[in-house]
Amino acid sequence: MVSLPGDSELFEVLAKTVAIGPGAHDRVEVRTPFTGAVLGALPAARAEDVELAVRLARAAQARWAERTSGERAGIFLRFHDLLLRRQEEALDLIQMESGKARGHASEEILDTAIVARYYARRAGRFLRPRRRKGALPLLTYTREFRVPFGVVGFITPWNFPLTLGITDAIAALLAGNAAIVKPDPQASFTVLWAAKLLREAGLPEGVLSIVTGDGAVTGQALVDRADYITFTGSNRVGRTIAARAGERLTGCALELGGKNPLLVLRDADLSKAVEGIARACFVGAGQVCVSTERIYVEQPVFGQFLDAFAARTRRLALGAAFDYSMEVGSLTTAAQIARVEEHVRDAVEKGARVVTGGRRRTDLGPLFFEPTVLTGVREGMRVFTEETFGPVVSVYPVADETEAIERANATDFGLSASIWTGNARKGARIARAIRAGSVNVNEGYSAAWGSIDSPIGGMKESGLRPRHGAEGMLKFTESQTIAVQRLVPIAPSFGMSQAFFVRLMTRLLRILRWTPWLG
Ligand code: NAD
Repeated sequence: MVSLPGDSELFEVLAKTVAIGPGAHDRVEVRTPFTGAVLGALPAARAEDVELAVRLARAAQARWAERTSGERAGIFLRFHDLLLRRQEEALDLIQMESGKARGHASEEILDTAIVARYYARRAGRFLRPRRRKGALPLLTYTREFRVPFGVVGFITPWNFPLTLGITDAIAALLAGNAAIVKPDPQASFTVLWAAKLLREAGLPEGVLSIVTGDGAVTGQALVDRADYITFTGSNRVGRTIAARAGERLTGCALELGGKNPLLVLRDADLSKAVEGIARACFVGAGQVCVSTERIYVEQPVFGQFLDAFAARTRRLALGAAFDYSMEVGSLTTAAQIARVEEHVRDAVEKGARVVTGGRRRTDLGPLFFEPTVLTGVREGMRVFTEETFGPVVSVYPVADETEAIERANATDFGLSASIWTGNARKGARIARAIRAGSVNVNEGYSAAWGSIDSPIGGMKESGLRPRHGAEGMLKFTESQTIAVQRLVPIAPSFGMSQAFFVRLMTRLLRILRWTPWLG
């Protein structure tokens, strides 16, 4: 079995960086998926600890919001540089917590650096006050301001400890908010490390806090207190958070699950496609919200595609290594591998065929599962509609692109999709017919995800309010309109009657109808 790199005291040091209230705390033990060894124990924050974190954050936020965009940006550009310089530490931590292959972990470093640079550079432009057309041309001077909510809470999952643990908070912080992150216990050490790095980059105390613990107590306490809540995780928990936010009349953003389809059209270059499609399905051992779980292949190339794809999947290097020698890593938790095994067992029992994979690999570590390709999957099997969130993909033949689009859309999810074709224009046209928040043509997921200037999120039940782009920052602010009325009021004045005022306004509206530059 692989030996763990680095200094085991690191986990003790990181656990102590958590700002937490007085008295003894229960501890949540964290194990590495690679070997099952204990990494460390996190304090479980209670409701009163979260209350304290919110109070400190509120005090720190007022001073933070007074800083200029440029001052705030400087801190995040320093964070960007430190992250790239110290990426090996983060890569070890991400791998130890998530069990993913180092190549997949490295995507998190690149992504976090890109987000930090993008929002640091753009924040000033996104947030600056904007002149708006006034109620009465020339007489009403109107400006729109963006005001930070105050304390934004983030509840984050285990599958991308760094990317999902910290990047949304970066956007919120640069918009002038304080942030409190409640990471999944299985991803908390990476988030604590990132928070420590931000302090080193100059982020003032109290502006970002991490509260560790489980969802039901610590997470719920944050949902009950934050001025805005951002949740990334399962639809089940997402619904309860949205309901609570509704009761409190606070805003919330949700990034939820998917059952992402991928279309292989008859004109695709199959040799290139299988490489990219294997990446799309098995990145993070399939525990990626935007990874592919359903492949629809046009009938004329179905057999050829399936043979080539199964052969590539069989050759994927599966195992634990703290270098780049493995292409697929471990599943992250016992619950995940149980779910994956259950989906495969259920499908096979009801008549599906395992083309390759399908087995647990305890010889590699406690939570490894082979990249698995299924055919003959039908309605009634769990894997047909439910998100597996593991290295299992079903391949279906379809008559033509119309059937492929119909079947791709036959789901309550709408997170991500991918289309492989020799004709990029056709791919882009078909993409418009798919109800998913992002669609990649001739790439699995990273073309859209990496296009950070454009928002990315879920349609249908896959989410509310995207991340990235201007929207990914502005959602952490409220608009405030300030209008100054000059010379005359918006009411009858100078002794005019109400009837005269109405006639005057009617005439004004008629003029505005024909003068687009004025109204
Ligand atoms: P989860 O919903 O079980 O947990 C996510 C977070 O919510 C954790 O921090 C957990 O402690 C917390 N939590 C649990 N119950 C809570 C409660 N009652 N109140 C407050 N917080 C609570 O999800 P998971 O299993 O960690 O993640 C897997 C799911 O997340 C998959 O469905 C996946 O598709 C989705 N996901 C979506 C995206 C996206 O960007 N759309 C990204 C990653 C994962």
